[in-house]
Amino acid sequence: MSQPGSATAAPVCGETGLIYQRCRWCGTASFRRLLCPVCASSDLETARSDGDGIVVRTTVVHRYTKLARNESLVRFPEGFMLRCRVIGAPPHLVWAGERVRPAAGADFSEGEVVFEVCDTRDRELDRWR
Ligand SMILES: [Zn+2]
Repeated sequence: MSQPGSATAAPVCGETGLIYQRCRWCGTASFRRLLCPVCASSDLETARSDGDGIVVRTTVVHRYTKLARNESLVRFPEGFMLRCRVIGAPPHLVWAGERVRPAAGADFSEGEVVFEVCDTRDRELDRWR
């Protein structure tokens, strides 16, 4: 277990950045909104986030399924937050402050929003102390 992080090539974040909406009137960023959450304008333009998300709050849910799954609230540098599922780590090993990015191959135009942890190499380290 001492490979220098060359196992899998990470997707380029610039090409997989999250698509969000920005209000042309007040500049508020939002995600999957028809109206601006601040000024209720419908004049929203589509933009692409160029930064990683940061997990704000994270929980493990067992609802409707026997398998535990992660549900997290993620904040983006553009200023909006969204609820999503985080993969790439066991559901109970996703923590607040974690950097996440849109999961490769995920469809963000509809359906479930899925992110993956950016740095999986730290996963074996003991960060619980
Ligand atoms: Zn607005």
